[in-house]
Amino acid sequence: MRKINFSAGPTGLPIQVLKKAQEEFVNYKNEGYSIMEISHRSKTYEEIHFGAMDKIRKLYGIDDSYEILFLQGGAHLQFAMIPYNLYQGGVAEYVNTGVWSKKAIKEAKQIGVDVRVVSTSEDENFTHIPDVNFSDTADYAYICSNNTIYGTQYKILPKTKSPLVIDASSDFFSKPLDFSNIALLYGGAQKNAGPSGVTIVIIKKELIERVMDDRVPTFLRYKTHAQNKSLYNTPPTFAIYLLDLNMQWLLDNGGLDKINQLNIKKANLLYDIIDNSQGFYKGHAQTNHRSLMNVSFNIVNSKLEQSFVDEAAKNNMIGLKGHRLLGGIRASIYNAVSLEDVENLADFMREFAKKNG
Ligand SMILES: *Cc1c(COP(=O)(O)O)cnc(C)c1O
Repeated sequence: MRKINFSAGPTGLPIQVLKKAQEEFVNYKNEGYSIMEISHRSKTYEEIHFGAMDKIRKLYGIDDSYEILFLQGGAHLQFAMIPYNLYQGGVAEYVNTGVWSKKAIKEAKQIGVDVRVVSTSEDENFTHIPDVNFSDTADYAYICSNNTIYGTQYKILPKTKSPLVIDASSDFFSKPLDFSNIALLYGGAQKNAGPSGVTIVIIKKELIERVMDDRVPTFLRYKTHAQNKSLYNTPPTFAIYLLDLNMQWLLDNGGLDKINQLNIKKANLLYDIIDNSQGFYKGHAQTNHRSLMNVSFNIVNSKLEQSFVDEAAKNNMIGLKGHRLLGGIRASIYNAVSLEDVENLADFMREFAKKNG
């Protein structure tokens, strides 16, 4: 029996995607080989590669003024690639909303960027998205749209005159986005887009021409990958294949509008229980900054948290232990987690509170 998977990432993929991959695993479309076993220069693979890019364009409604790149090195390598490419010797502005933006800030500083942290919620343990005033003259303005550990999320993206860069690793493809103010959106695939191994970067074409200085290695330049259509070297072909299947699954299920409605419903189910638990559960994020993807909460009687996780596991639900830095409980309810799965958890939470409250 398959587990109901609330892990933060890597995490569950839709069963239809897994089944399709299983079906095609040994003999892809009767070609006589697995997709893993053929050249990334073959027509068979290219169809998948460019097919996945087309589907991403379709889902977000992205026009030709953006390039879509498939890279490696996870979101972590982007912490360096972003400044290596976009920094022009001025100032780079960052909002610090938690561990992932802090790491990005640290990396930028390490390579000599003049970083201004224009806003932070660190003194309140990242329970909210702080207000921010970006200047109009930064080389770029950087945010993390969904904070996977603390369970906070931007409801409206800030408007900026400087190019806006967004780490969307944990809310990629969870809702429609207005790209008119987005210069670069990126994320590792393993939270909500596919398996680990591929990083998706959606970047405004005019930014591809930028590079910090002429010592930046060839491989770390966006231009290298854009000019070569993300086939400069061997891409993670199997990960991109699964990404393609997952994007098709989203399209087959009504696209981002539809998944967004479902994601709102799912999150509301859990937050309602937390809010109506008469103080048994306590959410980490402030109410109007709550993430639709990662529901981080505590049991006020913290001694019960381990038995919550253990009992949930006995009931077939895994991945509920909070991040080691925050503790408590976290339910990650990405696209592949169905409404029924969340109802299951909601029932369990209600029962657990009744039994132990
Ligand atoms: C998981 C995560 C990362 C790190 O991703 P890697 O692909 O492991 O480098 C960065 N940012 C956010 C928001 C994340 O959730």
